[in-house]
Amino acid sequence: MQTLRASKCGLSTTQLPASILDVIDSLNKAGYEAYIVGGGVRDLMLGLNPKDFDAVTNATPAQVKEVFGRRCRIIGRRFELAHVYSGRELIEVATFRAPPKKAVTSASGMILRDNNWGTIEQDFARRDFSINTLYYQPRKGIVLDFCDAVSDVKKRTLRLLGDPAQRFEEDPVRMLRALRFAAKLNFDIDPEILKIFDVEMTQLLRDVSPHRLYDESQKLFTMGHLSRVLPMLIEFDIWRQLFADVKAEITPFIERAAKNTDQRIQIGKTINPAFFYAVLLWRSFLERSDFYLQKGIVPAEARAQAGLDVLKRQATRTVIPRFAETFIREVWEMQTRLLNPKPQQIEALAGHARFRAGFDFLLLREKSGDSSTQGMGEWWEHYQSLNADQKEVVISQYNRQRAKTRRKVQQDAVEQKESAEIEPLVDVPEPRSRRDRKTQNRSSSAPQRNDSSQGSESHFGADHPILKRKRVKRDLAQVVFGPTQ
Ligand code: ATP
Ligand code: MG
Repeated sequence: MQTLRASKCGLSTTQLPASILDVIDSLNKAGYEAYIVGGGVRDLMLGLNPKDFDAVTNATPAQVKEVFGRRCRIIGRRFELAHVYSGRELIEVATFRAPPKKAVTSASGMILRDNNWGTIEQDFARRDFSINTLYYQPRKGIVLDFCDAVSDVKKRTLRLLGDPAQRFEEDPVRMLRALRFAAKLNFDIDPEILKIFDVEMTQLLRDVSPHRLYDESQKLFTMGHLSRVLPMLIEFDIWRQLFADVKAEITPFIERAAKNTDQRIQIGKTINPAFFYAVLLWRSFLERSDFYLQKGIVPAEARAQAGLDVLKRQATRTVIPRFAETFIREVWEMQTRLLNPKPQQIEALAGHARFRAGFDFLLLREKSGDSSTQGMGEWWEHYQSLNADQKEVVISQYNRQRAKTRRKVQQDAVEQKESAEIEPLVDVPEPRSRRDRKTQNRSSSAPQRNDSSQGSESHFGADHPILKRKRVKRDLAQVVFGPTQ
């Protein structure tokens, strides 16, 4: 173990927020050892802005709770941790960990339960990458380096402690972490890792809880280097483990959305990670919608059911929280609303809570070459730049244009079918009452689609479960937008 002067590593207390110093000082005052460890130290050394600071101590979580009282909450099962609130920030305080006493592992060697406190040396050995193992004591101005981690930082190399295969088997999420750090820091992955990082190894991610994988996926989306990590997810065959039914291909839409996400993060704008899920799953959603449309399901219901199906499939890999799922379905539903709004809906639509996300999504589609947006992305962009009077003018122009288009569309049903990726609401008015909807269904409201479904209609009569399912109707209500409907 080497003890380095913090200043030599480019570290000083002036770079640290008061919250982490408060936590370290309080623990020291109570007689415990406490260090800053992990990403915070690593990022500061690299001249990056750390997203947070993690503390580690020889105090057990219960003792940390004694020190901080009501400012502290103990969380976690697999890893018991203390969350300490300091000012408006939350600091994660971990206790030095020893190797698990009783091996509580799964059949594939994955550690399931792990609350065995130990020494700093043992704690070090449990960490993943060497660059994440520097222990910084800011008040003493020292850094403890147990494995020449500083030279890995300098060489910009991602090296796992111990045997890479065993470390991935213990916790397959480390594979995702490897790609995340390599992309975020622009580091090389150690050849010893590359040797064993194969398709068979990535299969182990199947054993990881889809909740944990969701959290990791969020970190991938929000680290600011999504564009860089996406091809790596494909190259290392991790894409397939994370995204159900999403073809491992970076389409222009996905690429553009990833760049856009990274840019927003760079300029300090907030991002909603669910937005990128909406992008990734968009194609699956369209295909599934089409599947239902071809069965003669009315468009709104086809979309609602497709949304449910796609998200349900995705939940087998990453469990997207309910609020985020709702967001995704609303963004998708907004696409239909924005594509062909009724003139009297335009103002309300522009004020809708989901307008911004829906519009961004539409514009990204359009700018990435999706002609099915019919130029409406630009139209809405222009609309938003106008004052109230100008808005009235463009709405009336739009109304006239729309009437013309409608006449043209009636004349040329075939062309309409080709150009409408999503059934525009105005061209196929949706029945208002359930009775109407059923009647419309029975009388095959979408004749062209039924023609092309080559007899599938026979499997899909009015008594098909999807037409009876009450739950779908309730869920639809969540997606539906009040005044704009
Ligand atoms: P960032 O916070 O920038 O994403 P980080 O390295 O701080 O990166 P955290 O998830 O905050 O990552 O974890 C803090 C530290 O805990 C890591 O630096 C590492 O030392 C250790 N650690 C986290 N996850 C694992 C893991 N799965 N296996 C081993 N050690 C881990
Ligand atoms: Mg961290």
